[in-house]
Amino acid sequence: MVHDPRMQSRWSDAHAREFVARYAAHGEDLALRVYTSRLIGEDQDLVLHGGGNTSVKTMQRDALGRSVRCLCVKGSGADLVAVEPAGLPALELEPLLALRSLSSMSDEAMVAELRRRLLDPNAPNPSVEALLHAFVPHRFVDHTHADAILALTNQPDGERLVQQALGKDAAILGWIFPGFPLAKAVDELVTKQPNVRAIVLMQHGIFTFGDTAKESYERMIEFVDRAERFVVARTGAVPAMLRGEPAPLPHAERQRALAAFLPVLRAVAPIDAAPVEKRMHVVADVRSHDELAAFSAHPDAAALCATGPITPDHVIRTKGRYLFVPRAAMTDRDALQRAVHDYFAWYRSYFESCAKPLGAPLMLHPMPCVAVVEGCGLVALAPSMRAASIAADIAEHTLKVWAQGSALSRYVPLPERELAAMEYWPLELKKLGKQSKPHLAGRIALVTGAAGAIGFACAKALLDNGACVMLVDRDGDRLAAAASRIAPSSRSVRTFVADLTDEAQVHAAFDACSLAFGGVDDIVLSHGIAHVSKLAEMDPLRFDAVMAANAKATMLALKESARVLRLQGTGGSVVIQVSKNAFAPGAGFGAYSASKAAALQLGRIAALEFAEFSARVNMVNADAVFGDHETPSQLWAEVGPDRMKARGLDADGLRAFYRDRSLLKRTVTPQHVADAVLWLIAHAHATTGAVVPVDGGIAEAFPR
Ligand SMILES: [Zn+2]
Repeated sequence: MVHDPRMQSRWSDAHAREFVARYAAHGEDLALRVYTSRLIGEDQDLVLHGGGNTSVKTMQRDALGRSVRCLCVKGSGADLVAVEPAGLPALELEPLLALRSLSSMSDEAMVAELRRRLLDPNAPNPSVEALLHAFVPHRFVDHTHADAILALTNQPDGERLVQQALGKDAAILGWIFPGFPLAKAVDELVTKQPNVRAIVLMQHGIFTFGDTAKESYERMIEFVDRAERFVVARTGAVPAMLRGEPAPLPHAERQRALAAFLPVLRAVAPIDAAPVEKRMHVVADVRSHDELAAFSAHPDAAALCATGPITPDHVIRTKGRYLFVPRAAMTDRDALQRAVHDYFAWYRSYFESCAKPLGAPLMLHPMPCVAVVEGCGLVALAPSMRAASIAADIAEHTLKVWAQGSALSRYVPLPERELAAMEYWPLELKKLGKQSKPHLAGRIALVTGAAGAIGFACAKALLDNGACVMLVDRDGDRLAAAASRIAPSSRSVRTFVADLTDEAQVHAAFDACSLAFGGVDDIVLSHGIAHVSKLAEMDPLRFDAVMAANAKATMLALKESARVLRLQGTGGSVVIQVSKNAFAPGAGFGAYSASKAAALQLGRIAALEFAEFSARVNMVNADAVFGDHETPSQLWAEVGPDRMKARGLDADGLRAFYRDRSLLKRTVTPQHVADAVLWLIAHAHATTGAVVPVDGGIAEAFPR
C-alpha cells in the first residue's frame, strides 16, 4: 500500500502516437487529452473511482461545420481510467469566459449554462469544475486528489507544509466549496500570479496546467512527487501506524475471526427491523492485508475513524466517519449493536445540525459504509459488490493518509458542516447515478454443483438478479470454465473447489463465502452423482459413494447453512435439487433414487428446524434436464449411454423419449429449473418444506 516515493511520469511517445492515430477523427489535442487522462486514472495514488478531472481547450466543429474554440472537459462522475473522447464533452469556450464577470452564480444556473454551451446536446453533464477549467488560461488542465498532497493539506499547519514541500511555483487556496465560487477564486489567483504552475486546494487536491498534454501531466507527477518525498522524509516509507506495533492478529487467525464476524456485521450494520423479506441486505468487501490490520490494531485507529474523509469527494461513497469495531465486539453481538447504534446517533445529529440547515430534505440511510475492525483490517458494506469495492478502495487510501497525517503531526479533517454541504449537494449526489436496485441486491448465494448444467443456470439466474454468488464444485477445471462463462472478471462471482462429502471442506466453502462477500443468504444444493446398477449387481462401494455425494453432502451443507443463517439471523433460504426419482424411482437406479429420497427427507427436516431462525427450505424435482453443448448435464453423461442402450435409442431419440413421456410434452431445460429456484428464493416468502416439480408433468412423480 505504501509505495516507493518516486512517482514517475509514465508518458511514452510511442503510446502518445498510438492514441493520436486511434482518435485521429477527434484531433490530436483531444487524443492526447484522453491519453494522459488515462495515465492519471490508472494511478490510484492520484485519483480513485471517478475522482479528479481533466480538460483541454481546442478547436472543434459545430453542427454547421464551423470551427469553434471549445473546452473539452471530463463529464461529471466519469472515470478517468477508461475515458473516451465522448467522455470529455465539448463546450463553446467564449460564452463560458463571459461568466468571469459575474460575482456569483447559483448551481442551477451554472449547470443550465454548461448544458446550453455543449456542442452535442446529448453529451453527459460536464464536470462541476468545468468553469474552473475554462477560466484557467492554459490549454491543458489536470486535477487530482493525490494522497501525498492530502497528507499535507489536512494538517493543522497544512499551508506551511504544502509551501515547504512544493516550493514557490505552487499556489495555495484555502477550502472553498466546488462550483462557481472555486472557479472564481482560481481565476483571481491565476490572474494575479500568472507564472504559477500548480494550485493546491486545502483539504481537497491539486490542479496543474500546461500548454501541452505532456507538460500538464508531468507537472502533476512532479508536484505530487515533491509532496511524497517530503512526507516520506518525515514519516518514513511506512508510517508508524502501519508498522504493526502493537501487532495485529496473525494472518490465519485474522481470517478465522473475520469469517465468524462478518455474517453478524452485515446483519447488524443496516439496523433494520423489517420482516426478513423486506430487509435491506448488504455485501462486504474485506481488506485484511498486513498494513491495514496494523492500522486497525493501533490505539489511535478509533479516534481517526471519527474524523472524516481525506477529500470531500469521497463522502458519497464512504460517509464521513468509519465505524470502529473493538476486538471484544467481534464476538459480542450486543456490543456490536451498541457500536452501530452510536454510529446512527452520530449520523442523525450530524444530519440535523449540518445538513438540514442547508435544506437537505431527507436523511440518507445512516448505515456505516466502512468498518475498521481491530486487529483485522477494514470492511466496506454496500448493497452491491461494486459499491462496496469502491468504498473499500477509498478506505485503503484513507487509512494510509490518516497514518501519514498522524505521523506528520495530527490529521485534521474538513469541518462536518462543509462535509455535509458536499454529501447533500445535489450535483454530487447525481454522480451516483440512477440506482435501480435489482431484486436480490445485497444478497449472497452459494451454489453447489455450480459447474453442472442445473447449478450453472441457477447461479446465473441469481447473479442476473443482483446477488453475489459463490460457485462451489469438486471439479476445479470445470468450475473455472463455468466462472469465466458466467461473468468474466465480475467481483460478484467467486469460486471454491470442495469435496462436499468432507465436513472440513464444506465448512471452508462457507467461510470462503463469508470472507468473499460477508456471509450467505441463499444456498442452492445442486451437487450430485449417479450410478446405474441393478441391486443384484450393486457394488457396495459405488453405493456408498453415491450416498455420500448425494445424501451425506446434503446433510453437511445443511449443517453449515444452519450455522451461518442462525448467526446472521436475517432469514435466508435453501433449495435442494432432489430429482423426480425421489418420488418415482427407476429400476437400475437404486443408489441414485435412494440417495435423492434421503436428500428430500433431510430437506423436510431442515424446513422443520430452520424455521426457528426464519430460514426456508424447499426442494425442486427436475427430470430429464440434459443441458446444452456448453454445459451438458454430468448426470446424463453418466446415465445416458446405458439408457440409450436399454431403450435402443440414439442421443436425440433419448431426449425425444423423455420429452414425449411428460404430460406437457416439452423439453425441460436448466433455465426452467433456475426459474423455479429463483421463485422459491426471491418470491415464495411464505413457503417452506415444499417440493416443486420441474419435469414437464410426470403423474407418478406428483409429490405426496
Ligand atoms: Zn476535486
